[in-house]
Amino acid sequence: MQNLKLPITINPIKSAQQRSVCNGRYLSSEMNRLLAACESCCEHVHVSVKFDVDELGLVVISGKGSATVSLACQRCTEAFEHKLELDFKFSPVKDAEAAENLPSYYDAIELDENGEVNLRELVEDELLLAIPLIPRHELEQCQSPADSVWGKLPEELDKPNPFDVLKKLK
Ligand SMILES: [Zn+2]
Repeated sequence: MQNLKLPITINPIKSAQQRSVCNGRYLSSEMNRLLAACESCCEHVHVSVKFDVDELGLVVISGKGSATVSLACQRCTEAFEHKLELDFKFSPVKDAEAAENLPSYYDAIELDENGEVNLRELVEDELLLAIPLIPRHELEQCQSPADSVWGKLPEELDKPNPFDVLKKLK
């Protein structure tokens, strides 16, 4: 059932009473904030979300998911592929006061006036948080001219390993 289209909003309390599990996907084309934050994104965001009630009686929305996006490297400006991984645990609350009383291992998500949460927005928020602050290639894959500074100092190349000097400084 991996290819089910997930609902945009869902009643987490009802779903938790039924111990629902949703495996499915969202279209990334419906996540404008995510698209604005990357160069491009794979067509589908796959998510598995579980609704449950914990031993304290709190409703828990836990989920895992992933999406592959293309990000612009901040060192060399070339785009590169990056897998965003999601792993979240929310508990729905009625207001800010209830949010403060939640155990710290849960994030709070506010219920709307219909007692529902916007699951797609939640997933999109989590994906945005998963984007590195300064996206960069792994050093060995980076085309950066900024890192070829050694090339400008050919005489330096005759020296032993420049990192040995760094080690001594520590
Ligand atoms: Zn790069």
